[in-house]
Amino acid sequence: MSKKKNFLIILISPSGGGKTAILKKILAENSEIKYSVSYTTRKSRINENDGVDYNFISEKKFLEMKNSGDFLESAKVHGFWYGTSKSYINKVLNKNHIIMDIDVQGAKQINNSDVDYVTIFILPPSRKVWLKRLNGRGTDSDEVIQVRMKTAEKEIQEIKDFQYLVINDDLEKAVNDIKIIIKAEENKIERYINIQNYYGG
Ligand code: 5GP
Repeated sequence: MSKKKNFLIILISPSGGGKTAILKKILAENSEIKYSVSYTTRKSRINENDGVDYNFISEKKFLEMKNSGDFLESAKVHGFWYGTSKSYINKVLNKNHIIMDIDVQGAKQINNSDVDYVTIFILPPSRKVWLKRLNGRGTDSDEVIQVRMKTAEKEIQEIKDFQYLVINDDLEKAVNDIKIIIKAEENKIERYINIQNYYGG
């Protein structure tokens, strides 16, 4: 049995912050960390699989779950609902850490819950690089990019509510910073289970 408690690793970043690439690399390199598959009312994109990337559900079903208190957090982002299932999180936490990628509103709700978590805000190195990344995707119109920048500027105002900041200048370095944060958090005294029983004599 593990002598340490598992926890939620919450990655928060504005569009263009690079959290998707970071998340993929962390999951590929750490089999003991599982991905939190959220529920959403948006339609699946090409290459996305139901139950793997998201649980894609109707707004009716989402609101039923929300009203039944099934979500640890939920938020409307860019016109669609997103939420994290409480029972799923508790089940996975019995065996593994869980990493999740959620928006600022959702992360603030978890701040006020009794779940054990670590929050990590990810930012690009500068506004110039950030704009370049947003434009470089080639998937969004200028209008969409402007809306995302506005949302991001508001999100950055809330940064003080979170615990860690990682500047994503270089993918390898950002991933390494996050691994170090996770290691340090694992070794906090409060995360050891009944440590006195092992060494107390
Ligand atoms: P996308 O639809 O592009 O995958 O995600 C859009 C936004 O929704 C991203 O900012 C992402 O972090 C956020 N998001 C994804 N899943 C959840 C969730 O379960 N809860 C909350 N609050 N936000 C989420």
